[in-house]
Amino acid sequence: MDDCKGKTEEFYRLLVENSLDLVLVLDEEGTVRYIAPSVERLLGYSPQELLGRKVFEFIHPQDREFSERNLRLALRRPGVTQYSLQRIKHKEGTWWYHQASSINLLRHPAIKGLLINSRDITRQMAVEEELRESKREMATLLSNLPGMAYRCRNDPRWTMLFVSQGCRELTGYEPEDLLNNAIISYAELIYPGDRDRVWREVQEALAVEKPFRLIYRIHTASGERKWVWEQGRGVFAEDGKLLHLEGFITDVTERMRAERLTRLQRDLALIASSSFDLGSFMDQAVQSIVQAAELESCAIYLENEDGDGFRLHAQVGFDSDLSVTSNVIKGGSPLAETLNEGRAIALAWSDLAMAAGLPKGEEGEKAAVVPLRLEGRVAGCLIVRGRHDMTPGVLDFLEIMAGQVAHTYARHSLLSRLKNSESRYRLLYEHVGEAIFSFDRELRLTGLNRRACEIIGYTEEELLGRNLLETGIVHHRDFDKVLQIVGALLSGEDTHVREIRLVRKDGSVILAEVTGASLRDTEGKIAEIVNTVRDITESRRAEEALRRSEERYRATFEATGTAMFHVDRDAVITDVNRESEKLFGYAREEMVGKLRYMDLLMPEDVEKVKNISRGLVKGMLPSPQQCEIKARHKSGRPIPALITVSMIPGIPESVVSLLDISEKKAYENELKRRAEQMRDFLDVAAHELRHPAALLKGYAMTLEKYGKRMNREAWSEALRAIENGADRLVTVVEELLETSKLERGLLRMNLEEVEVETLAKKAIEDMRVRVPDREIKLRIDPNLRFVKADAERLLRLLIILLDNAIKYSPRGTPVEVTVEMKGEQAIFSVLDRGVGIPEKDRERIFDRFYQVGDVLHHAVPGLGLGLYIGKNIVELHHGKIWYEARPGGGSVFRFTIPLRD
Ligand code: ADP
Repeated sequence: MDDCKGKTEEFYRLLVENSLDLVLVLDEEGTVRYIAPSVERLLGYSPQELLGRKVFEFIHPQDREFSERNLRLALRRPGVTQYSLQRIKHKEGTWWYHQASSINLLRHPAIKGLLINSRDITRQMAVEEELRESKREMATLLSNLPGMAYRCRNDPRWTMLFVSQGCRELTGYEPEDLLNNAIISYAELIYPGDRDRVWREVQEALAVEKPFRLIYRIHTASGERKWVWEQGRGVFAEDGKLLHLEGFITDVTERMRAERLTRLQRDLALIASSSFDLGSFMDQAVQSIVQAAELESCAIYLENEDGDGFRLHAQVGFDSDLSVTSNVIKGGSPLAETLNEGRAIALAWSDLAMAAGLPKGEEGEKAAVVPLRLEGRVAGCLIVRGRHDMTPGVLDFLEIMAGQVAHTYARHSLLSRLKNSESRYRLLYEHVGEAIFSFDRELRLTGLNRRACEIIGYTEEELLGRNLLETGIVHHRDFDKVLQIVGALLSGEDTHVREIRLVRKDGSVILAEVTGASLRDTEGKIAEIVNTVRDITESRRAEEALRRSEERYRATFEATGTAMFHVDRDAVITDVNRESEKLFGYAREEMVGKLRYMDLLMPEDVEKVKNISRGLVKGMLPSPQQCEIKARHKSGRPIPALITVSMIPGIPESVVSLLDISEKKAYENELKRRAEQMRDFLDVAAHELRHPAALLKGYAMTLEKYGKRMNREAWSEALRAIENGADRLVTVVEELLETSKLERGLLRMNLEEVEVETLAKKAIEDMRVRVPDREIKLRIDPNLRFVKADAERLLRLLIILLDNAIKYSPRGTPVEVTVEMKGEQAIFSVLDRGVGIPEKDRERIFDRFYQVGDVLHHAVPGLGLGLYIGKNIVELHHGKIWYEARPGGGSVFRFTIPLRD
């Protein structure tokens, strides 16, 4: 027996000592009386260092007052768990967030203090902070996304039913101008050449109920042409009827321009490197410029040999009308003067035509003149004609192209001077902006230019003549890819742009975008392969960073510990985290795209949350919004929760998070229940005190008035009634006093050897005096003589149980007391044949103030305190008390008392 008890203690000691949390016991002053070894790991102190010190020394000054208050509260409320959050100082001086729960066990003989369990939640706090941070980041990111959200009819005019404020920025029109085609229809904004395609592609997507993504051009209010990217989808009614379209349109002009520009530059670089004919290069250049910038015409003028004025070298789109006179821009002319200032100008075509003697062209056409600069002078110009505005973007583009042309022209004039010279290939290579590698059919490197050397970090000498795959510059994983490309090129096929990993001399790996072209010899056989190579490591890195940030966001979304989900504007759930799966009992697949978030609420709260959402969408309520609601588990069970709804700025989605507050609710209900009990108690107490007092008064008055005339029997009956009333009053007051002592932890036990038989007989005798007409039987195990107990309290306990047994069982039925021995315990039982206790009340009869049934209309007197006091007496003896339904009807109350210490 001893052994078994020892084991349990050891077991608990191990539990506490190996706890991950900080476990400590404080006395009333906040002095550390016990602290578990985990403090060493958590805060760096050894337990000895802390014993006897005040706990407040280690609490952050800003949190100290709060903690002190909490301690005082805990001291006043035995048994109630108190929670608090504070920063605690690590031995190294850093502060750690701890969440502590404390429970007042001052009157528990084994603890005699405030037991505190404190958990390090610093990491959790950091994660929350990070989440807020990432949410902020996302919000700014989204609010900077330029574009227009819309809802429109599926008609050829794309009649708009809703457009967002982004409309102004994107189209130059106010949202109202577009709504219901008030001023202009959206279809009219679309570039005529693209209208049919847009209609067709949208209809095709709708037919299969798929979202659509398109790129096309629009004209803005100011006549500017923009490339836009649109993503949208049809919204269908339950019966499959198409209601309207909705989506998002954003400006991608810059991106398209940048892409076209790189492509163009690469094309021109390739042409420049593989053709030595300036004329055909210039022809290519004007073609490409017209196409890429969507112009009507383009001409290149280059300086005259005599250094005075400019002469037409290549043109496209100016038909034969470009007369002989206009082939030359004369030196000293206003146009030549302007050009000499060296900057690009945009003007009306008619003005330029007049100044330069060019054909008149059509009404409203625009023009731009861009100088070709070379070594500090103006060596020529680009003249372009177009229907749309020459915006700064277009001018930038033209300047870049002018640079490319000037560059090629310069190289060419150099080359023509060095004609047949050995060095011409080299010159050519060196001056191209792109990295160029060339190799022959056997993959031997035949040339690489300066830029190529820069990219991979080798010198030309180190590589020339060596096999491409043996040099180590191609990453071994990409050998197959290279062989494929080479094979295709050698068999005369075109290849697309490929991405290949190259290894630099220093071992670092770069990602390169490679475009290949084959060069034929005079007989038309493929002799060499030329690759232009662009280092795209950086741009890939940026993409990677974005991906990581998304992953991080995802991880955070998962790690918050709260159920969170995203909903789109139709309230359909688009994303959920695992915590939501746990809270609601649905798997992710059952929620995403399938449930509306109203499906996760109890019906009575749907309207409330809908109102919040509407308010948020309309901007009438600030985001986020919070309220308490009942969420709905898959099983239909309600879950009390704190819901937070926030809009994601810029897109019509919101984030919803739910915090399960069942425990908080349960605690609130418990408080409410106790307050009710307290009220009931006051009513009952008043009744219990007034009833015997009124009785006393009544009999006293009777005696005074009629005493002399009363016979002996009536007289002594009145006296007995007075005695009973007084007894009752004393009992009530005693119970109240005892309870008050218990509550304040003041009940002290006075343990001694108590002889069981004497005590039990005394209790029965006591009862007989009060209720002489009831039979009480006693049976004691003959081997049992003594228990270790507080005699007075044990007597009181027996009387409480006997009193109840008599009160709650009919006259004429016996009440029994038995005492048995079981191991180191004595088991006392009080049995009756009364009404018994309904199943549902059995748990709670030992609670303070608890009475079965309607308390005020109780037939028998009582405060609901007897069993509560009894239970406390038993527990102070380290025993247990419980109720059993008695076979054949009635109640059995049993409790244990140890035989020895
Ligand atoms: P009270 O002062 O009301 O008797 P107790 O705490 O002693 O308060 O008992 C709580 C409730 O348990 C009583 O109101 C009564 O309904 C029920 N009860 C206690 N003892 C018995 C018993 N022997 N038989 C039936 N009911 C009992």
